[in-house]
Amino acid sequence: MIREGTEVAIVGGGLVGAAIAWGLARVGKRVTILDEGDDAFRASRGNFALVWVQSKGLGMAAYAAWSVRSSDAWASLASALKDETSIDVAHQRPGGLMLSLSEDEQERRVAQMRRLHNQPEMIPYPYEVLDQAQTKKLLPDIGPQVAGSIYCPLDGHVNSLKLFRALHAALAARGVLYRPNRPVETIASRDGRFVLSGSWGELRAEKIVLAAGNGNARLAPQVGLHAPVRPQRGQIIVTEKAKPFLNYPLVTVRQTDEGGVMIGDSLEEVGFENVATTPITATMADRAVRMFPMLAGLNVVRTWSALRVMSQDGFPIYDQSETHPGAFLATCHSGVTLAANHAFDIAPQIAAGRLDDALLPFSARRFHVPQAA
Ligand SMILES: Cc1cc2nc3c(=O)[nH]c(=O)nc-3n(C[C@H](O)[C@H](O)[C@H](O)COP(=O)(O)OP(=O)(O)OC[C@H]3O[C@@H](n4cnc5c(N)ncnc54)[C@H](O)[C@@H]3O)c2cc1C
Repeated sequence: MIREGTEVAIVGGGLVGAAIAWGLARVGKRVTILDEGDDAFRASRGNFALVWVQSKGLGMAAYAAWSVRSSDAWASLASALKDETSIDVAHQRPGGLMLSLSEDEQERRVAQMRRLHNQPEMIPYPYEVLDQAQTKKLLPDIGPQVAGSIYCPLDGHVNSLKLFRALHAALAARGVLYRPNRPVETIASRDGRFVLSGSWGELRAEKIVLAAGNGNARLAPQVGLHAPVRPQRGQIIVTEKAKPFLNYPLVTVRQTDEGGVMIGDSLEEVGFENVATTPITATMADRAVRMFPMLAGLNVVRTWSALRVMSQDGFPIYDQSETHPGAFLATCHSGVTLAANHAFDIAPQIAAGRLDDALLPFSARRFHVPQAA
């Protein structure tokens, strides 16, 4: 395939690539997305669907502010996608909770939130520490083992499969070319353009965005970028549909807009391995039932695992190559939460050819620490 006229080629059609492509199309760019096939590792199809703020940014205050910004912009994203595609992605922002199953756990969580908010340059956001009785007012079905919780009004959730579908429908409507089964093997520069190629052929573009999830680690060095990311497995359980009982998403339990209860999600260092395993799902189910004893009466209908895209320090990486200007990198482990920023902030900056200085903390240059003599 040789297609002239692509201004920006995006490698990877997951949530990060799709949100940036949509943002670029909104500012008038001609965009082509090159993606792998349906058997690819794709975090975007297996996530927990939180638009989450609380607890994010310990170690990098800029990431906390970046998460708040996206959470604030999410309603506009949902409404723009609904206008363009008629798909309601079921975004809700009632606030969210992290429940503790012992006093010790609650103390640890509270201490962590204090450390987060006491960091230099942290812009504080609202949260409340709730005891058992206060938690029960919000969540009447909690069990006696719940010791307390932390509530943050900025947290929310969506239907992330509908989000994925809405983004791709909006891309098609705006004329973005989505090309599956086009794994990019090599990227070269020729006559002032990038040439992306694989066994399927080649594509030339003025700019490129590497949004290939865990695939970025291999592609980035070809254009002078650095993407130290690794897969991190997470498992999820889904129950049969139940009557609405959970009006707030929790970091590990949420009721979807369709009624099923999602229970998640583990953090496992197992490489490129995405099978679901009973010991992990049993532990997750046990904690969820201690939080909400009524869950024991629901049938599990599905379990799965998927691979996160995790950087060395857990924070996003946004960069433009110094050696290959016009080559951009975007990767993060919270692509649902950050979808609004990717569409409304990152995409226009890529279109303009320069990432804002406000994004400097997210450059991979932070990993280039000189070796001690
Ligand atoms: C269990 C779990 C729970 C999660 N929960 C949440 C949550 O609650 N909230 C939240 O915000 N985020 C959550 N996430 C993270 C979120 O799903 C990811 O941040 C997001 O999906 C990452 O999107 P991505 O596009 O970078 O990566 P992916 O979805 O992995 O997509 C990368 C794409 O690049 C393609 N690709 C790779 N290499 C190449 C190549 N060489 N050529 C062409 N294409 C290539 C792949 O085929 C794939 O389609 C969760 C993730 C997991 C696994």
